[in-house]
Amino acid sequence: MDGDVVETRKALVSAMEPIHLGIFEGIKAYVEGDIRGKGKLNIFRWKSHVERLRRSAAICGMKIPFSDEQLLEGTQKTLKTNGFDSNVYIQPRIWPKAEDPQTVHVVIPAWSFETLLGKGNPLFSKNRRFIISSWRRIASDALPPQAKSWANYANSALALRESMRLGRDGAIFLDNRGFVSEGTGACMMAVRNGKIATPPVTASILESITRETLLEIIPKDLEIPVEVKDIARVELYSSDEVFLCGTGGEVTPITSIDDLPLGKEYPGPITKCVAQYYSDVLAGKVRKYKEWLTPS
Ligand code: PMP
Repeated sequence: MDGDVVETRKALVSAMEPIHLGIFEGIKAYVEGDIRGKGKLNIFRWKSHVERLRRSAAICGMKIPFSDEQLLEGTQKTLKTNGFDSNVYIQPRIWPKAEDPQTVHVVIPAWSFETLLGKGNPLFSKNRRFIISSWRRIASDALPPQAKSWANYANSALALRESMRLGRDGAIFLDNRGFVSEGTGACMMAVRNGKIATPPVTASILESITRETLLEIIPKDLEIPVEVKDIARVELYSSDEVFLCGTGGEVTPITSIDDLPLGKEYPGPITKCVAQYYSDVLAGKVRKYKEWLTPS
């Protein structure tokens, strides 16, 4: 926190902090070789996450008082001090100081998480019944979804709570034009006739690093075509498979949308194939993507 390693219960700030202006990142470190096991951790796409953190800060007019190297050192120190030896979620948080809004607090908390991925993981194939939210995704001329700011997640929370009230597991947003946007904390991919489609950045989505990763590796290595295009709501209903992708959600299959079941098989074959390959990349099993892994 602000340059020091601090015990969580001592990482305190004033209740008067301007919390509405905070930005953050969501990063994961996975166990090398076996992402469901224990061992040495590698941070996935550290550089891209720090770049996005700086973009979010710039959009919100904040300056990060640490270099990329210092942020990495701070993160590595946090992981080491905690002694983590299984998968870890790292969430750098930055917000203006109450006493001096021109300067910021930088806190890098980290905690363990259970992955959905890995062969035969029952968490992966759990049923997930989603709705199209009646809330639209925030438009970038009001609150830019391209900045990873906490304020954007109030919009996500409304949609998620709507889905919970209806007894469902999650929500998908349409953008202000009525095209498919993203989930409440992940991007979307839809499979139809063996092809994957995903909405463009102009559909009010966060510039997801997982989406970017999948856009690179799926066509090249799995030889499955992926198209970035606007998706109509009705196309989603008639898709063979729909899955979420994100650092938090990894690759998460969806069973139904608005109670309309998707495809014939759940999880679908392409979703399973993408999830397996993505987990191999995270585990460092695909040599050519080793540069995406930063040792912790
Ligand atoms: N959209 C939203 C709203 C998110 O919160 C996230 C998670 N950061 C994503 C998309 C996926 O982004 P990434 O793949 O970079 O985690």
